[in-house]
Amino acid sequence: MSEHITHRIAGKSWFGTAERTGEVFDPATGTVQAHVDFAGTAEVDEAVRAAAAAFPAWRDTSLAGRTRVLFRFRELLAQRQDDLARLITAEHGKVVSDAAGEVARALENVEYACSAPQLLKGEFSENASTGVDVHSTARPLGVVGVISPFNFPAMVPLWFVPNAIACGNTVVLKPSEKDPSASLLIAELLAEAGLPDGVLNVVHGDKAAVDAMLDHPGVEAVSFVGSTPIARYVYEKATAAGKRCQALGGAKNHMAVLPDADLDGAADAAVSAGFGSAGERCMAVSVVVAVDPIGDELVAKLTERIAGLRVGDGREPDSEMGPLVTAAHRERVASYIDAGLDAGATLAVDGREPGIDGGGFWLGPTLFDRVRPEMPIYTDEIFGPVLSVVRAASLDEAVELINANHYGNGTAVFTGDGGAARRFTGEVEVGMVGVNVPIPVPVGYYSFGGWKDSLFGDSHAYGPEGFHFFTRRKVVTSRWPSTAGAASGGVNLRFPGNT
Ligand code: NAD
Repeated sequence: MSEHITHRIAGKSWFGTAERTGEVFDPATGTVQAHVDFAGTAEVDEAVRAAAAAFPAWRDTSLAGRTRVLFRFRELLAQRQDDLARLITAEHGKVVSDAAGEVARALENVEYACSAPQLLKGEFSENASTGVDVHSTARPLGVVGVISPFNFPAMVPLWFVPNAIACGNTVVLKPSEKDPSASLLIAELLAEAGLPDGVLNVVHGDKAAVDAMLDHPGVEAVSFVGSTPIARYVYEKATAAGKRCQALGGAKNHMAVLPDADLDGAADAAVSAGFGSAGERCMAVSVVVAVDPIGDELVAKLTERIAGLRVGDGREPDSEMGPLVTAAHRERVASYIDAGLDAGATLAVDGREPGIDGGGFWLGPTLFDRVRPEMPIYTDEIFGPVLSVVRAASLDEAVELINANHYGNGTAVFTGDGGAARRFTGEVEVGMVGVNVPIPVPVGYYSFGGWKDSLFGDSHAYGPEGFHFFTRRKVVTSRWPSTAGAASGGVNLRFPGNT
């Protein structure tokens, strides 16, 4: 019998009967391992009401009290890192070491949130006008919604939840219906750390749950991560309803390799960043831009390394790359291999027959050479283990190609030339840039976000921009009549000036 996964509202598992449920697969075997309840308007409303009820007391909990919970949560999360990683692997398919890496990066966000007392300090100006003081505070928004994608079931929720609660908000989290369990373990650990019931609620589901959240007048702000069409939709709907919104979308990340680069290092980096997590990362390298004349040599090095990759069940310690998340996603990614061939790209490594027995959602690493910008394998986000090599005549041509792309999430340049790297980082229109670093995910005390169609809204995720997103400023101007020189001076209809 498969497991039953349900919502967690006000600190308790939900006891209702869901009108709709979804299947959760073990991607390595293709079997259904659980059914997850899908929330509709009523369940989302119940979660928002639980979060709203918890808000006043949580907002008024001292900074010391709030951060104590986060410090304890950080320790619990570190202790349970392996359990969480195994849970991620079971539902997502990525190899356990990669899942543990995801949790390690998530820990950075919790650590950042632990500095809330420092980060939420306001400003104070004594005697801004004679006998008048001015101070500012950062106030929480209220109930905030977090909607996350399947590919980082622990890290993406933890880009937002720690900062949101550190700032005094309460949260309704809707994780991906494909791998819903990590969020529940996170919620349990937060409860064990002392987070009061209702401060973090988890509802599962699909579009219906998202729409219910976007339509709910009690939700003040929404942090969304997912594909570009849905990110755009969420941003437009949320902001039309007067909510604050940050919606991070898809990507097509280019790695430019200049002729003077260490080609072995660049090939290692491209294969690691292209096929880690089977390419199901928004910061995966999906296009290598080989700048003349190193194209043939680089493709040979990539081919050699790809041939050595060990594809297998993510639970096996030897596996380097696991299956794709669902059968439908596997079919979609595989269809791009056919599309690449139809368009005339050179198939250097064909992953269509990975040679793994059993019913899992397997696709081997695939490499296309001589990809042209008009081909669908170039224009579309594939989100799977398909790497394209585009040849460029110069650094200028590489930058032009990258800037013409409508995505702008991550990019990298591989070179030994500091001047070339400086030009690249200055001219490229992308939000996160690596120099000889293939997946430049910013550390927890910077912020994460792309440009163009990779992010809608003006706040990036986590770090300082996360604290900005989850608070609004209030400025208080005070005059105490007992202060010398602070008398009101009688009725005066002039616009108030400062003396
Ligand atoms: P997705 O857009 O299909 O789903 C994301 C979330 O939206 C899920 O919670 C899902 O239930 C919900 N959703 C799905 N369809 C919806 C609809 N029609 N209306 C409202 N909500 C809907 O994305 P995914 O397949 O889960 O994740 C992969 C995508 O996420 C990729 O495009 C990847 O690049 C992107 N991603 C981006 C970042 C980033 O930081 N920019 C990070 C991780 C993933």
